[in-house]
Amino acid sequence: MRAPLVVANWKMHGTIAEGRALASAVRDGLKRPRGVEVVLCPPFTVLPAVAEVLAGSAIAVGAQNCYWETSGAFTGEVSPAMLAELGCRLVIVGHSERRQHLGETDAQVNLKVRAALAHGLAPLLCVGESADERRQGLTFNIVEGELRAGLRGLSPEALGHCIVAYEPVWAIGTGVNATPAQASEVHGYLRGLLSELASKEIAQTVRILYGGSVKPDNAGELCREPEIDGGLVGGASLQAQAFVGIVKKAAGRGATPKE
Ligand code: PEP
Repeated sequence: MRAPLVVANWKMHGTIAEGRALASAVRDGLKRPRGVEVVLCPPFTVLPAVAEVLAGSAIAVGAQNCYWETSGAFTGEVSPAMLAELGCRLVIVGHSERRQHLGETDAQVNLKVRAALAHGLAPLLCVGESADERRQGLTFNIVEGELRAGLRGLSPEALGHCIVAYEPVWAIGTGVNATPAQASEVHGYLRGLLSELASKEIAQTVRILYGGSVKPDNAGELCREPEIDGGLVGGASLQAQAFVGIVKKAAGRGATPKE
């Protein structure tokens, strides 16, 4: 019922030429992506070039962040309206690296979610606990707090246009992924909260992605879980072959589809 979605987060990597080459290789490696949606999120400077490379293909572009105002004296910021003009479909909001290194707060994340929706972009809201928080048994409290705060004030219908990513902080860029059972447990919990915030029907339509050291060799078992609707991929999205391998696993929900 929910089409799997795989989102590449290139983070702060790549020149325009490198971005073009990577996007071209992903596009060529996924000539006819069936049963899966794919979005590449390059750095802002590389976005127009990647949008050009992907024009006419089934792969969409997205952004890694946005500001919440449409325009004005906000030096250095980029608005959702500007991203929509470039053809972006979604924007990552509340990534743990921004929360951790740039002090992004839940209130700011909520403003960004609302601004993205107002401009027709799907906000991809990231939530996840640190290693310490998991050790202390706080996983559900943390993800619940971040989900509720990020989606505060949204109508059920607006909530249906959001995408959620469960990204345990201890799994991001570490090579240690959450097990399918660990991820599935949290995804189920998040879907229960979405049912409460919107309705059971709407919650069933919201994609909940897993992120944290997704690789071609673990994507299959993760995506086989009914509650895992695809992945948010950092490191492995910088290698076309690895990323294409992950997308194919997600498309087959575990089984590598025949070419
Ligand atoms: C991320 O940046 O969202 C991420 C999941 O990174 P990685 O795949 O490298 O763990």
